[in-house]
Amino acid sequence: MTKQHVLVIGAGVSGLTTALALLQAGHKVTIRCKEPGGQFAHTSISAYAMWVPVKMDGDPRIERWTGESFEAFKKLAGDTATGVTMKPIYQLKTKKEAPWFAGQNAGNLCGFRHAEASELPAGYADAYVLSSAPVIDPLVYMPWLYWQVHDAGGLFGQTEFKNLDGIHPQYSVIVNCAGLGARELAKDADVFPDRVQVVTIKSSNIDRVVIDDEGPNARACIVPHNGYVKLGGVFDGPHESYEGADLSTVQGIIDRCNAIAPELKADQSQVISVIRALRPERKGWLPRVEVDRTICADGRPVIHNYGHDGMGYLLSHGIAAEIASYAANL
Ligand SMILES: Cc1cc2nc3c(=O)[nH]c(=O)nc-3n(C[C@H](O)[C@H](O)[C@H](O)COP(=O)(O)OP(=O)(O)OC[C@H]3O[C@@H](n4cnc5c(N)ncnc54)[C@H](O)[C@@H]3O)c2cc1C
Repeated sequence: MTKQHVLVIGAGVSGLTTALALLQAGHKVTIRCKEPGGQFAHTSISAYAMWVPVKMDGDPRIERWTGESFEAFKKLAGDTATGVTMKPIYQLKTKKEAPWFAGQNAGNLCGFRHAEASELPAGYADAYVLSSAPVIDPLVYMPWLYWQVHDAGGLFGQTEFKNLDGIHPQYSVIVNCAGLGARELAKDADVFPDRVQVVTIKSSNIDRVVIDDEGPNARACIVPHNGYVKLGGVFDGPHESYEGADLSTVQGIIDRCNAIAPELKADQSQVISVIRALRPERKGWLPRVEVDRTICADGRPVIHNYGHDGMGYLLSHGIAAEIASYAANL
């Protein structure tokens, strides 16, 4: 195996997970990101951060990465320091039909079943119940992951790269985990932000995830973490800035979430924060994970790992392992 000195650009969940896999494979790894030390990547720290089954016709690797990430997170759930727990996830549906993952590996992994009628709130014909799936508390997991990388020998620094040329020759490979920043770094006009507003409340009333992506309360989403619950969400399109928040939407988000989970009983007095965050989308909704030998003028290989949309956590371990295998063979 070739030992590389790898520069990982980006310290979100993609960059840190990839850096850890590269370190564990024996490479030297430097991680650089544009946040000042002590801050975490806004998108990754703002996520709901759950696992759900995903398969995409355009890239058969996605189903495999989803399964591998499930296994990795399930192992981490045995250690409370990681912030990973296994919880039931209810995906509410307006029609009763079998999902693609019924009887497949993804469905078997999470213990898929259809909901009982007594479990359904008004307005729904079914729910896909993932009996036990990873839910990752980003406020615990991201710092934990940072220290895993640090303790494995990863070197951190702050740099905002303007492009991928002129990077110090000590790095034999560059891994581009820049999220939305990849639009400029990889000159990829297909990358765009999708802005979502999320309300966080202090509550321990609920210990399951409930999601309505298609029914009367779309796109309500309840994600409990340790002592707090994320409530989503209002998607308002391809905005470039996550600054500010539209407080007029908060009551609507709370009402829709209360409608899909009677035990939640949320109200405005519990609100801790209201934020906007940008999901790093890509036309076609496929992340870019590949070796590129043309983007650097000096011909150095760049491994791209960006454009994960709402899947950055649930693909992270599978993709990181794949990138470690690419790096070993460059
Ligand atoms: C509200 C919300 C809910 C979500 N829920 C889920 C979920 O349940 N499950 C799931 O799997 N995913 C979810 N996602 C998606 C997930 O959060 C993202 O896919 C993931 O965080 C992307 O991680 P990343 O590391 O690729 O990018 P980011 O977290 O955006 O990190 C990018 C990094 O690149 C660095 N960078 C960028 N440009 C440059 C540059 N020019 N020079 C140097 N550094 C640079 C930044 O500083 C940062 O460190 C959600 C997202 C949101 C917003």
